[in-house]
Amino acid sequence: MTLKIGVIGTGAIGREHIHRITHTLKGARVVAVNDFNPEQAHAVVDDLGLDAQVYASGVEVIQAPNVDALIVTSSGQTHEEFVLAAIDAGKPVFCEKPLAVTAEGCRRIVDAEMQAGRKLVQVGFMRRFDHSYRQLKQALDTDTIGAPLILNCVHRNPQSPSADFSGDMALTDSCVHEFDVLRWLLEDDYVSAQVIQPRKTRLCNESLQDPHVILLSTRAGIHISIESFVNCQYGYDIQCQVVGERGTASLPEPASVSVRHAAKLSSDILVSWKDRFMDAFDIEFQEWVDATTQGQMNGPSAWDGYVVAVTSDACVKAKHSGQIEPIELPGRPAFYDR
Ligand code: NAP
Repeated sequence: MTLKIGVIGTGAIGREHIHRITHTLKGARVVAVNDFNPEQAHAVVDDLGLDAQVYASGVEVIQAPNVDALIVTSSGQTHEEFVLAAIDAGKPVFCEKPLAVTAEGCRRIVDAEMQAGRKLVQVGFMRRFDHSYRQLKQALDTDTIGAPLILNCVHRNPQSPSADFSGDMALTDSCVHEFDVLRWLLEDDYVSAQVIQPRKTRLCNESLQDPHVILLSTRAGIHISIESFVNCQYGYDIQCQVVGERGTASLPEPASVSVRHAAKLSSDILVSWKDRFMDAFDIEFQEWVDATTQGQMNGPSAWDGYVVAVTSDACVKAKHSGQIEPIELPGRPAFYDR
């Protein structure tokens, strides 16, 4: 069976996912698209040679009778409306992060999905599908280093990810991937957050605080430090070291040729998140297509999207209060047990 997909939002990542489904993955094809900008939607259909209809609105894509499942890659503030409409139509929906721009909006999606009585929503937290994070998780799950005690994490971009990157977006837009993957890695939840604002780099927009250091504590008492530095200049660099009772385990570096030349030993550092997580995106979507075709939903859930939103809200609060702020989550509903 071929899963027939409707895509809402044909901007940068929407176009990439359509390309991925059309040219890399198996078992799915894009049959319907919409974008706020119809010329752009038509251009994507033409450029990628799709046999797909361009609809005038996202809701029409959701309601199209030949659409089995949805991908929402429109701007973040539109996600809640489209995810709720997909749930209402009883259709599986893959939503790029954020699930909604507020924790309350994420909660409305959680409630609607539980009301619908079956899991329909997956959120685009692709790091869970990355080979190196999966290897690190395996080392923890097999008890290689004993119980985790401390995590030292780094999230560095060469330059701010977009021209409008401002204010608290390091916490609400880029670190959301850290917040999701670390609780997945540890199978634990956060209980408090503190945000430290070190000396600012001069090499970015003056109004931006960069870097940040985010300190999280978990229910099990694990201490997590995340350095977020989105104008580090030198590359896209993601690191994660877990300190356990009997040893440490670190995220493997992306493979690169090691060069010994002119009295120097060197290897490459990637510069783009797309290159770093290209394979993870492919695996994420192939697994979603396969599971959806079998009537299942196994990836990051609406509940995970909600937890990340609560966590980033607490981090924003902690940044502005200068205090350690609690991260208060209701118990996970049994509906979201795996
Ligand atoms: P983008 O290039 O701005 O694309 C978003 C597209 O959605 C634009 O073409 C926009 O049109 C369109 N749009 C806005 N409102 C719409 C509506 N009501 N109905 C239909 N289309 C609408 O942004 P992007 O970089 O692709 O990002 C899209 C989403 O993916 C964001 O939420 C972003 O956070 C997420 N993302 C996730 C990752 C990841 O690592 N998982 C990476 C990149 C992006 P206009 O430009 O005309 O407004």
